Amino acid sequence: MPEVLRGTGVSPGVAAGPVRPMSGAVPEPPADQRHAGDAHAERARALAALDAVGADLEERGAQAGGEAQDVLAAQAMMARDPGLAGLVTDRIDDGLSAPRAVYEAFGVFRAALSRAGEYMAARVADLDDVRDRAVAVLLGVGAPGVPDSDEPFVLVARDLAPADTALLDPAKVLAFVTRDGGPTSHTAILARAMGVPAVVACGDCMDLRDGTIVLVDGASGEVRPDPTEQVIADAHAAAGARAAALDVTTGPGATADGHRMPLLANIGGPKDVEAALACGAEGVGLFRTEFLFLGRTTAPSEEEQESAYRAVLEAFPSVVVRTLDAGADKPLAFLPPPDDEPNPALGERGLRLFDSHPGVLTGQLRALARAADGLDVELHVMAPMVADAAETRSFVAACRAAGLTRAGIMIEIPAAALRAADLAAEADFFSLGTNDLAQYTFAADRQIGGLARFQDPWQPALLDLVALAAGAATAAGKDCGVCGEAAGDPALACVLTGLGVTSLSMSARSLPLVRAAVAAHTLDQCRRAAEAARRATDADGARTAARAELPGLEPLGL
Ligand code: PEP
Ligand code: MG
Repeated sequence: MPEVLRGTGVSPGVAAGPVRPMSGAVPEPPADQRHAGDAHAERARALAALDAVGADLEERGAQAGGEAQDVLAAQAMMARDPGLAGLVTDRIDDGLSAPRAVYEAFGVFRAALSRAGEYMAARVADLDDVRDRAVAVLLGVGAPGVPDSDEPFVLVARDLAPADTALLDPAKVLAFVTRDGGPTSHTAILARAMGVPAVVACGDCMDLRDGTIVLVDGASGEVRPDPTEQVIADAHAAAGARAAALDVTTGPGATADGHRMPLLANIGGPKDVEAALACGAEGVGLFRTEFLFLGRTTAPSEEEQESAYRAVLEAFPSVVVRTLDAGADKPLAFLPPPDDEPNPALGERGLRLFDSHPGVLTGQLRALARAADGLDVELHVMAPMVADAAETRSFVAACRAAGLTRAGIMIEIPAAALRAADLAAEADFFSLGTNDLAQYTFAADRQIGGLARFQDPWQPALLDLVALAAGAATAAGKDCGVCGEAAGDPALACVLTGLGVTSLSMSARSLPLVRAAVAAHTLDQCRRAAEAARRATDADGARTAARAELPGLEPLGL
């Protein structure tokens, strides 16, 4: 194991603690695996495993409470179902090993559930989870998913899907380290939202053993196995000094000469409101509504949506809500793309999905209009993944039909930036999604760690597209914010200001840094930095050239 593992730091801060690897898939026991001959002992082993899984699920339910408790109690009942036990013992009596017998018995239940209508078919995933837990006990391997741990830990994984992380206990996770993912992957976004250090694209991290103490530096991207006490103390001291420099800025965003730059938060639901307010967000610039419904197999009711939206709309004077952005890196089971798309990131995703599921969009727009009714909030609604003027027109028309007056679009596809003037004639505002815009500009999947360099938002080609979109919006008298992760980079935030964007929206914890950086420069300095960056021929050159025009960064330790 090398002394230092290197990846890309995507969420600043320092943490030290024991590694807990995310457990992978539980293997299917071989079809011909037989027990040694003592069927009685094998039956007892199988039934004890099922019982242990049932007890464990009940205990987790009691801890979680609420709706989760009902789901876990239902799963515990599956584990303890007498019919299932009968199927298991029959198979063991026929000579099969306990793991294989359990696996096959669940298969019988699974087939019955799949045939029993849509609601029951949706329980198949829960059943599979119970099966995997029982097989894992019998094979002596870790249960699937996020590991259990009584003490806080550093979560190490290949990558984290939003569905894996929805149930994470933030008090338990000290840091994330993943082998895959880039600066805009959802691991990175989640880590920044939770305020925990994170390193992605860390090629060797899967070699870290369970329990090894590691020091994770989410700014430098370094992961140190077995650090000394002194190394840990020094790292904490340096991170503390940086944090202290930031705590001093509050108030609305503006340059040193008073050019307003509203600083807004990216959120995934009501649970993120508190952190956004605590970090001084002036409003919400991106409410990723799909984050509310990850892991759901049925579409949420309009009433359920309305109450989640209202909880956010009540908290801020201005909120930009994005309609469901399903597909590719954010799959929603109730909004499935067509089968067998060879390249989901280029398939029916985002706004395109509503062609095959139109009722979901109109339902969401209705729920949003009702949620804002009677509140003193500026509700802006925008669509993800818009390609052209025709899509913009039809989305704006759908918003108007629902009584929504501020209808905008995300600029995430190069075509939309190139023809921004056409789109600005249709939309009330733009919001630049630089994460996807980088992905599509460089034809580099944002989830592939090895391609992380293409996700670098300092690439001059990306800055050119930002300038095009911002210029077209200004000419049409419309706002053009940035809500991709680029907005959360303090130096780049100054460059974006200089490029003419009208607001910056980011993970809440990036706000103090960005506020300080923007306040330390005049609009003119920001413009000069933007011009210098665009004259460069690569991302590093752009960064260096811009920083030379931004002397206020260094005193802030940035
Ligand atoms: C983006 O693509 O920049 C964006 C803000 O949307 P998401 O990261 O949710 O795809
Ligand atoms: Mg996007």
